[in-house]
Amino acid sequence: MIGSADLHTLTGAYAVDALLPAEAEAFSRHLGACPACAQEVRELRETATRLGCAVTQVSPALRDQIVRALPEVRQLPPLGPRPAGASLRGGTWQRWLPGVAVAASRAFGESRRPGGQPTAGR
Ligand SMILES: [Zn+2]
Repeated sequence: MIGSADLHTLTGAYAVDALLPAEAEAFSRHLGACPACAQEVRELRETATRLGCAVTQVSPALRDQIVRALPEVRQLPPLGPRPAGASLRGGTWQRWLPGVAVAASRAFGESRRPGGQPTAGR
């Protein structure tokens, strides 16, 4: 069961369709009564769309460099205590999201550099 105070924390996961169906349904109802969350979801979706567009501007050479670097990116452990009965391997998107976020931020940073040339050894 999701408390009403907890619903305010689900904007990011809702914006990228990462909630379980029951959570998404509860949050959808919450959006109708919470303008702050509704605005945050709109802004997060706009940002996610911009990030998705930025990825398409990455050169094939840079993409290959990122893919080669992925095994070297350490995944951070989850914050806070693990809930009772939670798998050691984590849930679904929680396992790969940190690595994808690092790779996307590197790709976005490289694509914004003047000249667009990646730096060797980064
Ligand atoms: Zn809210």
